[in-house]
Amino acid sequence: MQHIIDRFISYVTIDTESDPNSETTPSSKKQWDLAHKLVAELKAIGMKEVTIDENAYIMATLPSNVEHEVPVIGFISHFDTTPDFTGANVKPQIIENYDGKDIVLNAEQNIILSPSYFKDLLQYKGQTLITTDGTTLLGADDKAGITEIVTAMEFLIKNPEIKHGKIRVGFTPDEEIGRGAHLFDVEKFGADWAYTMDGSQIGELEYENFNAAGAKITFKGKSVHPGYAKGKMINSMLLASKFISKLPKDEIPEATKGYEGFFHVTGITGSIEESTVSLIIRDHSKKLFKKRKYFLHELISKFNKKYRKQFGDEIAIIEIKDQYYNMKEKVEPVFHIVKIAEKAMKEIGIKPIIKPIRGGTDGCQLSYKGLPCPNIFAGGHNFHGKYEYVPVESMQKAVEVIVKIAELTAEKK
Ligand SMILES: [Zn+2]
Repeated sequence: MQHIIDRFISYVTIDTESDPNSETTPSSKKQWDLAHKLVAELKAIGMKEVTIDENAYIMATLPSNVEHEVPVIGFISHFDTTPDFTGANVKPQIIENYDGKDIVLNAEQNIILSPSYFKDLLQYKGQTLITTDGTTLLGADDKAGITEIVTAMEFLIKNPEIKHGKIRVGFTPDEEIGRGAHLFDVEKFGADWAYTMDGSQIGELEYENFNAAGAKITFKGKSVHPGYAKGKMINSMLLASKFISKLPKDEIPEATKGYEGFFHVTGITGSIEESTVSLIIRDHSKKLFKKRKYFLHELISKFNKKYRKQFGDEIAIIEIKDQYYNMKEKVEPVFHIVKIAEKAMKEIGIKPIIKPIRGGTDGCQLSYKGLPCPNIFAGGHNFHGKYEYVPVESMQKAVEVIVKIAELTAEKK
């Protein structure tokens, strides 16, 4: 157990926060620090064809050890962490034999990881948890995934009696800012299919995700001295707030779950002359996704119709950009890749939890680039914040899942 803990800690103590405001890939220079370390480590454990390109995409091969033809499979994780919470100076704490009670993350600041709020904790009673010290995120998303893949490869190399086909490993930068798959060379990777090890709790297996788009609506105003503004002023901030009030009240992230889609206002900036509203649109159903985009266009055109009479021109401009699509469409035609993962979990005593992702993964973009890529648990909880934690036993199980998938794929039919 110490080996996997040490490996994980050696990754999370390197800050790899990505930066959405950067145009480069990787978006932050510091991601190279871990990338270089990973390349060295992949070589050290005996992986072949270890490469890193100018954008820090890492690939490596574990050659097949069987004679017969076996599909090439891949395992993928991202080494950046989210810009939503600091990932600098991570000081992991190890809680052995967790007793099911409150965990004091930070006594000084009174930051407590409590099972009365985070009920999932209770299923890990008796296990070893790795937590933060309450001041940073942990980075189990997705350094747990990387730990598991490297450890599984090392295990397969050390245990050649376990038969497997060619396995490709891919580590990417910038997943957290939605660009992890952008410069991923699917052809060079050369796998028939792959799995991202980027899910949360043990058992998760996902092949459906949201269809996603981002919208930016700009409202134009007219500033006039407020004492003489009657019939002349347009306060664009009031237009923006009116627009928000017309969005369906129950279709927001905090009121939806499962397959329910939403609109989510992510930002407002405003002055009298100009205000912008940013929002994201999410839906698993392609049809409802289209309907949501149509709804926004309609709403804006109603605004414009209403105010055109008064002010002459368009006061609202909407821009919608698709971000990613539901991978289900690409995975269903090759559904055996989900079945293999499901079987692997069952064979090592894990109950698969198959549910739609309320988000996207690198895998959904890769699926649309021709590499079908369901998502498997990496074991962590409470991603993107100070309450993030990972049970070591879940990481160990993820290693076993990878090994078992490799084995099952190489089985002679
Ligand atoms: Zn992730």
